[in-house]
Amino acid sequence: MKESASPLVSTPSLYVVATPLGNMGDLTPRARDTLAAVDVVAAEDTRHSQRLLDAHGVRARLLAVHQHNEQEAAGQIIALLAQGKQVALITDAGTPAISDPGARLVVRVREAGHPVVPVPGACAAIAALSVAGIVEGGFRFVGFLPTRTAARRAALQALAGERNALVFYEAPHRVRECVADMAAVFGDERELFVARELTKLHEELATMPLGAALAWFDADANRLRGEFVLIVHGAPAAAGLDAAAIRTLDLLLAELPLKTAVRLAAEITGAARNGLYSHALAKRQCDNLTPQPDKHTKKTNDHP
Ligand code: SAM
Repeated sequence: MKESASPLVSTPSLYVVATPLGNMGDLTPRARDTLAAVDVVAAEDTRHSQRLLDAHGVRARLLAVHQHNEQEAAGQIIALLAQGKQVALITDAGTPAISDPGARLVVRVREAGHPVVPVPGACAAIAALSVAGIVEGGFRFVGFLPTRTAARRAALQALAGERNALVFYEAPHRVRECVADMAAVFGDERELFVARELTKLHEELATMPLGAALAWFDADANRLRGEFVLIVHGAPAAAGLDAAAIRTLDLLLAELPLKTAVRLAAEITGAARNGLYSHALAKRQCDNLTPQPDKHTKKTNDHP
């Protein structure tokens, strides 16, 4: 275990420091000491971060690094490291580079030959997973879905056969349409876990089938406020298709009637026919919700 009087290593480094999601008590002692010891703190929003630093009695020189200037700021930070300065990176909340700026900076700093040191702590995805009760399998972190409806449904469709739990971030003004699309694509029975306002005053955790999600959000206007992590349980075994099977089926579905596409996809990939059939039905349902030119308008009572 690495432990010493100074929280810094002797070589000038970039420290990627996690900060609280809401509860100020979640800044770790090591994170606080690192922020107090470095020469410069690179922050996504310097005014927001100033409040965090003030609350912890940390005086620091701040430098703005956000998604619009990450490459340019990387040059400045590399120059500081070359001068022997120690630099920390923080974002508005949680762990940098997780649906936040930071990854490009990390690559550039490492390419320039300077060490990058993680100082771990809060992360909304991990906090939500820790209380979601995902008993079996792993998880797949998706983060934010595309904001446009057709692209979002296509992204969900590509995840329909994923056996691991899916972890999404979503903004309050899109969460309703997002869960509606999830129900359309994954089916009403799939379990959804909602983690709202984690570590904050109005923290709320709830589990429900996707088919009940809209009613849950509509039952209380406050439920559409704040920040959300959405976790969708993995696809059931019968529907568990690998990426190659889904891609094959999607290509065939674009050209052929559903029943033929499912039969050929099963022969080509060896995947279970009932899983392919469920995926095909969900995709057709989703495509019907999304306005688009349809080569095969045939509505069928196809069975596997
Ligand atoms: N890097 C951050 C992390 O480690 O979790 C995530 C940053 S991302 C820009 C912001 C999103 O994270 C929010 O839209 C929300 O989906 C999620 N999030 C952040 N804080 C949250 C909280 N207190 N409760 C629930 N979700 C939160």
